[in-house]
Order: sequence, then C-alpha cells, then structure tokens
Amino acid sequence: MSSYKNGTICVQGGYTPGNGEPRQIPIIQSTTFKYATSEEMGKLFDLEASGYFYSRLQNPTCDTVAAKICELEGGTAAMLTSSGQAASFFSIFNIASAGDHIVSSSTIYGGTYNLFAVTMKKMGIEFTFIDPDCSKEELDAAFKPNTKAVFGETIANPALTVLDIEKFANAAHSHGVPLIVDNTFATPVNCRPFEWGADIVTHSTTKYMDGHASAVGGCIVDSGNFDWTRYPKKFPGLCTPDDSYHGVTYTERFGIAGAYITKATVQLMRDLGCVQSPQSAYLLNLGLESLHVRMQRHCENGLAVAKALEADDRVAWVNYPGLESNKYYALAKKYMPSGSCGVVSFGVKGGRKAAEAFMKGLKIAAIETHVADARTCCLHPASSTHRQMNDAELKEAGVYPDLVRFSCGIEDAEDLIADIKQALDNI
Ligand SMILES: *Cc1c(COP(=O)(O)O)cnc(C)c1O
Repeated sequence: MSSYKNGTICVQGGYTPGNGEPRQIPIIQSTTFKYATSEEMGKLFDLEASGYFYSRLQNPTCDTVAAKICELEGGTAAMLTSSGQAASFFSIFNIASAGDHIVSSSTIYGGTYNLFAVTMKKMGIEFTFIDPDCSKEELDAAFKPNTKAVFGETIANPALTVLDIEKFANAAHSHGVPLIVDNTFATPVNCRPFEWGADIVTHSTTKYMDGHASAVGGCIVDSGNFDWTRYPKKFPGLCTPDDSYHGVTYTERFGIAGAYITKATVQLMRDLGCVQSPQSAYLLNLGLESLHVRMQRHCENGLAVAKALEADDRVAWVNYPGLESNKYYALAKKYMPSGSCGVVSFGVKGGRKAAEAFMKGLKIAAIETHVADARTCCLHPASSTHRQMNDAELKEAGVYPDLVRFSCGIEDAEDLIADIKQALDNI
C-alpha cells in the first residue's frame, strides 16, 4: 500500500479484506484470545512467536488502525495509545529513565509541558526547553552527555510556531540521539516529518485524525531510521537484554526497524496499560478515512479567517503560518506546501477582557477545550490549558495573555467570518 498517495492510504490503508470478509474493519471487542496448548502461549510470552493473547498489549483492531497511520507517515512500525499524552510519555520513557536528559522545544502543548516539566521531572528525567527559533549553536549548547532525545511539535499548539525539522534533526543526530516530532496539528496529510529527518512521530489522534470529537487517542510511529546499536551505552533498554523477557535484546530480535515499537508495546504497554479501546480505534479509522479531504477544507478556512482577521482593525495581531506576513511563512511553505492547519490565533484589541467578551458573542464557534474538530471551536489558553503557567512561562511558550485560539472547522468560511465580525461588533 505504501506506494499509494496519502489520500488513498487514508481511505484504504492498513486493511485489505479477503473474499467474503467485512468491508469495514472488524471491532475485535475481546480482552483475550484462545490457544490450544500452553506451549504455544508460552512462545508468545517469550516473544518467540507473534500473536494476540491479551488486549492490554495488543488488539487486532488497534493494530489495523496503527498500520494505516504507519503507512501515512511512511514508518516501519506503529502503535496506538489511549491518548496523545500517553504517546508523548511513552515516546520518551521508552528510551530514557531516571538520570537522563531531554532537549525539548519550549513551544509545545500545555499538557505536554506539564508532563515533561512536572511529572517526568519527578521521575528523575530532566528537560531543557529551548526556543524553536534558536540558532544552531544555541541548540547544540542544550545537549548534555546524558541527553537521550530531542522533542518538538511540527506546528505548536497553541503557539503555532513551525519547527525547523531539519535543523532539529541534524542537531539530534550529531549528538547521537533521535528527534521525536509531535505531528498532531500538521497530520501526515500536510507534513511527513520522517522525510525531513525526524526519527519518531507522535500524535494526539483526538484532534484532526479523529476529527469529530468522538474518541481520545494517541499514536507513536517509528521511521526505522535511527540506529540504536550505534549507541548501545546510551540506549541500554533497546541494546541489552530485557530481564522481564528472559533476556531478549530488542534490537537483535526485532531489528532496528522494529525494536522501538516492540519494546514500547511488550514492556511499557504491558506494565502501564495505556491502551486504546477497539471501539475508539474503529471511530478513529472512520475519521482517518476523510482526513485528507477535511484537512484541505480546514486549511482553506484557516487561511480565509486569518486574512479576514488581519484586515480588521479591531484585531491587534494574527498568527497563522499560512499568512505571507507570518514569521513562519517560509518554513511552513517548505515543510507544508499544501497547507498547515485550521488553527488561527489572534489577539483582540483591549486585551484579556476584550478576548473574553468577543468569545462570549460567538454563535457558530463554541468555547471548548478542544481543537482540530469538524466544528469550529475556540479557547482562551491563558485562562484554561495554560493557566498553570506564570507570565514569563507563558511568554516562553508563545502564549500571550490575550491569545484566542480559533480552530476553524469545515463549515463555510463566509459564515465563520460573519460570526467573527458580529462578535467583534458586540464587544
Ligand atoms: C491535544 C494534544 C496532545 C495531547 O493529546 P490528548 O489526546 O489530549 O492526550 C499532545 N500534543 C498536541 C500537539 C495536542 O494538540
């Protein structure tokens, strides 16, 4: 399937039914799977044979949908997780433990920032947050001998900074570590980070991939390009025997292309159990079937709304990577030539108070802790998702106190613009 274009993969990837088999992917709603002998089951537990035995580790419906996302990203292996947060956590915890260090872009999703700066810090993993627009020298200076990965978002939520993937990949590789990219906002329809040197991609499938606000979920995809065996001391979890599997060494048994996802599945998923339910995976797949069509409309609406806001003198500033006036226009054109995303951020003249009054007046756009949905929604991050941050941290994360995050759905752009105009009239 991988020789097909992304639109074809969105519709048909991951699943090819045989004669008389269901056209739609079956929901295998079963916690467990049957075997005839204990010997056969024992082989599964020793990772000597592959097969399903318990849905906390793997489920066929989830694997079918993971295979589609894997094809979309051009990877070698993928797994679904219960949420985007679980995907971000697993992506790093799979290769880092207490005493290790990670370099991360400072403009990342608020939930990810909390996970890294507070929760994972408690687990003994230290993060250095760096401005994604930093120079090569500043980036190099952030690395330490115990650095295990670099992390960033293709388009940051909600700062809408665009990651210079090549710059970050080159820095990561010159220090012998992988680049992990959260590709939630761009989706593989608009950007495939592996083509620019990223090694691991994560997703909150809750956003555009699902696209209908119906199921929380996440995904991790491995490019299969990072050679862990070149740095066995740095990545002992992948390159030395795992005692919990009678001494299996993941890179030896599953190869460079399969080691990372296999370890995350059989070890982290086994122990932490952040599985996506087969029902949710089914809903996710329904969303994926129209992802390429929806993304085009999200981007058209995003650009139309951004242009209308830019032309309105009641608006203080507009941030959308697709605007020619935008700082990231050139980077967005390079990495996302067919469009970036449907999320536009802006400030209403009059600051925080005016932003709140404006949002109250909207009729089509609803106030929601959500983005990237077919229905337009908006949020004031400083008083919600990012409210744990002080003003200095907010600034560093690219979230201004007056910032309204406006997620354009797939309605008609004319109606969205008219809604914004009437809400501005009523401030
Ligand atoms: C929402 C989001 C997450 C977290 O995903 P959940 O599915 O809500 O756990 C991670 N990264 C980005 C960019 C997001 O927008």
